[in-house]
Amino acid sequence: QVPLKPGRSLMDWIRLTKSGKDLTGLKGRLIEVTEDELSKHNKKEDCWICIRGFVYNVTPYMEYHPGGEDELMKAAGTDGTDLFDQVHRWVNYESMLKECLVGRMAVKPIAAPKVQFTCLVFLYFSFFFFFLLELVVFSKLLTLDLVFKSSNYDWFQTDSLVTIVIYTKQKDMNEELVIVDCQDKRLRGEIIMDDNSYLVEVDLDHAVSEDVAVNIAEKIGKVEIILSKKDNIHWKVLGQPWEGHNTFIKRTDRGLFYRKCKLVSKTEVTHDTKLFCLMLPKGTHLRVPTGQHVYLKQIIAGTEVVKPYTPVLPFLPLDFQEPPCHDGVHIYLMIKIYSRGLFTQALDHLQIGDYIFVSNPEGNFKKSQVQASEDLLLLAGGTGFTPMVKLLNFALTEVSCLRTVKLIFFNKTEDDILWRNQLEQLALKDERFEVQFILSQPTKDWVGKQGKISSSLLSEFVKRSRRDSKVLICICGPAPFTEQGVQYLKDLGYSQEEIHAFTA
Ligand code: FAD
Ligand code: NAP
Repeated sequence: QVPLKPGRSLMDWIRLTKSGKDLTGLKGRLIEVTEDELSKHNKKEDCWICIRGFVYNVTPYMEYHPGGEDELMKAAGTDGTDLFDQVHRWVNYESMLKECLVGRMAVKPIAAPKVQFTCLVFLYFSFFFFFLLELVVFSKLLTLDLVFKSSNYDWFQTDSLVTIVIYTKQKDMNEELVIVDCQDKRLRGEIIMDDNSYLVEVDLDHAVSEDVAVNIAEKIGKVEIILSKKDNIHWKVLGQPWEGHNTFIKRTDRGLFYRKCKLVSKTEVTHDTKLFCLMLPKGTHLRVPTGQHVYLKQIIAGTEVVKPYTPVLPFLPLDFQEPPCHDGVHIYLMIKIYSRGLFTQALDHLQIGDYIFVSNPEGNFKKSQVQASEDLLLLAGGTGFTPMVKLLNFALTEVSCLRTVKLIFFNKTEDDILWRNQLEQLALKDERFEVQFILSQPTKDWVGKQGKISSSLLSEFVKRSRRDSKVLICICGPAPFTEQGVQYLKDLGYSQEEIHAFTA
């Protein structure tokens, strides 16, 4: 993110798009754009970018882009889809840039081959050679893929139930990898398999009740989605397929799916941070894995705005006699409300009982990274504490090989420290856990550590419990905090594999 000029916030952009100003320079006309034409619009003052086949004139958006003009210029006059997907595929550009739409990319004419006979013979043999080579290299991959695709899903019924069975053949299948949404007559079941996603998505033949059960046979990777029929009738088919039904594709190529969740409570954590509790709809089965985030979506001034948030638990693992944290129904989010923040202000204005859209989880953190460690070090800045909550719970309750778990928590003032009491109690309860608070803007009464993230502070607190113990260091906070932290850790001799940075 770069500092934007005054009057160039997202809200200002939304206002501009609603002003009726001609933002494409084409007076509302939509045109077909050739590659040649696109490439001519490659300057700041005349910049077109193609995303998923649609061309946008992003010149008026330049000064409003949170990532800065230079980032946007990387895709000037070209197809920016891959770049866009790498950086923020979750941003709803269709909604944000709808007034900048120039038109569609023209379909390329297929040129008739003009090759001489000798060339043809050469091409024929080279093609045959490479075909054989590819067959050998990819045969294993192909077999795996085809085996999965050929077995995909099956369904059967009794008088009262419909069961959809998905044979994933994945041995470590678990309930975090299965996301089901069944609302009205629409069923969507997504199975995550490493970087891929398999989808069952149909408009069901008949109505079902809201009770959806998910059974997983972990060892053989069989997933069952069990629906209860509303009426006792025999179904002829499961339903009418949606476009993505029965497909197995890269996870990142699957659009984000949102469901409406109800705000059930909002409690103060500090002067500016609140714990929001959202309730999933009845027909949804969704567990957000440790270290992953979701996207929240709200319509603000007629535009869809999306921001990422990392679910936490209602409290740290202190053996409170309260309902279990993983009830599968509630999602807890600890969110700092910024006085000039577009999204968080709108969020703060939600009333109990209001609804908000919540996406499927994303993120590249793997729990196995913790399971292989003896020392876990967590460096958090402000709300960068949020991914550490589930991580702490997982580490202290499920990972027996961990000898030490240490949280180094950077905040501006004492009043900003999130869950200070609980963290101190946890340190008393579990001798493996230690917490260190460091303040960058303390009052004169503060007797604890003071400073900003730096090489010297890290060398004082980040240590292995034994000379060659296996360590994992997780870091999360404002982007410059995280970037500097990673650099200092590398300077101190920690390897890339020993560091996990939470970013967008
Ligand atoms: P914005 O409107 O974006 O502004 C935020 C603040 O910065 C405001 O005070 C605004 O005045 C100021 N500001 C904005 N732009 C500029 C600028 N150019 N120059 C100077 N100041 C500026 N946050 C949480 O609270 N909890 C979480 O669990 C959480 N999880 C996250 C997970 C991920 C993966 C990521 C990437 C971020 C996460 N965040 C989390 C941050 C969250 O996504 C939002 O960025 C945050 O809530 C601010 O959104 P906003 O629209 O209210 O603020
Ligand atoms: P904050 O209160 O502004 O800052 C927390 C601490 O970080 C303070 O000590 C602060 O010191 C320090 N800090 C801030 N900017 C710094 C910089 N440029 N260099 C070094 N230290 C810096 O933090 P916040 O408002 O809670 O923001 C939390 C951030 O975490 C947000 O940017 C959010 O997007 C991010 N986050 C990311 C994820 C994720 O998974 N990627 C999850 C949750 C939150 P000073 O300000 O005094 O310098």
